[in-house]
Amino acid sequence: MQDQYGREIRDLRISLTDRCNLRCVYCMPEEMVFKPREELLTDDEILIVMRAAADLGVRKVRLTGGEPTVRPGLVDLVRRIAAIPGIGDVAMTTNGIRLTQLARPLAEAGLDRVNVSLDSLDAEKFRRITRWGRLQDVLDGLDAARAAGLSPIKLNAVVVRGYNEGEVVDLAGLTLRHEWAVRFIEMMPFGSVAGFQQSAYVPSTETMARIAAALGPLEPIDVSGYDPARTYRLRGAPGTLGFISAVSQPFCAQCGRLRLTADGKLRLCLLRDDEADLRTPLRAGASFEEIRERFRAAAYRKPWGHGLARNVIPRRRVMSQIGG
Ligand code: SAM
Ligand code: SF4
Repeated sequence: MQDQYGREIRDLRISLTDRCNLRCVYCMPEEMVFKPREELLTDDEILIVMRAAADLGVRKVRLTGGEPTVRPGLVDLVRRIAAIPGIGDVAMTTNGIRLTQLARPLAEAGLDRVNVSLDSLDAEKFRRITRWGRLQDVLDGLDAARAAGLSPIKLNAVVVRGYNEGEVVDLAGLTLRHEWAVRFIEMMPFGSVAGFQQSAYVPSTETMARIAAALGPLEPIDVSGYDPARTYRLRGAPGTLGFISAVSQPFCAQCGRLRLTADGKLRLCLLRDDEADLRTPLRAGASFEEIRERFRAAAYRKPWGHGLARNVIPRRRVMSQIGG
């Protein structure tokens, strides 16, 4: 399945819930109002969309949120997704807090790997950026993920001025001791938190310079053209460093990704409000073929380029309602 620009659509991110057990400052407002449960897709509805996507050539699925591990019945849902013919890779993006209980059952259900969000190795800074998170819960979750064989492990850190811009050195230092991929993400602006996000934005060039000044030169590594991260290695490090710079260096040419929001909209670009509603036809009794054709038609319309430089900001949703 290709879009209007000839990009192959092979990757679907599914937000399993808009709820979360944290309130990271770069993601959602403290007084976040969540959607009523009946607005969220059921397991059966998610599986219909997923089967349609697989039929059209999607091979990779990433479960996200909100926090995917707070969705009831998650392990069963993962088992059913992993069993869909054609789906070769099932990954999850999580804050890691619930992995101590869930890593093993998820791995047994067919989850291949996890990306864990971790913005600081300092307990107090971690608490401040997540508003109430406990660093030790995430570190325990990482141990559980490793013990359950969920690999390779990737860590994601959003860099936020005034919160963790200096933490990037310690986080990068993890790659000297672990075979992990540590990725630094430029903060993107969305909806009601856009003002804060724009004022505390740190460009990847600054993060790279800070790491290089403390830990030595970053040596570029050639990876697949589909990875949104530009990848480097510190000299002698077993792990890698990645920089995801959607704001300063958009990677639209390599983007073969669609997102299904928890309330059943196919989001065609993370940074644009274009969406196609799949929940309404699903609930109106559309056939599998109809859903598949709606999916294909929406995918074809996938846009190119975002408007951040012209101050065109996605307004309708914050990040947790899209699924990063
Ligand atoms: N709760 C899970 C987690 O935190 O990993 C999954 C959902 S979260 C929305 C997915 C990813 O988006 C996380 O890595 C998070 O750090 C990132 N993220 C959230 N808000 C962001 C923003 N404004 N700009 C860039 N990345 C953001
Ligand atoms: Fe929750 Fe993830 Fe958003 Fe943090 S980034 S508030 S953990 S959804």
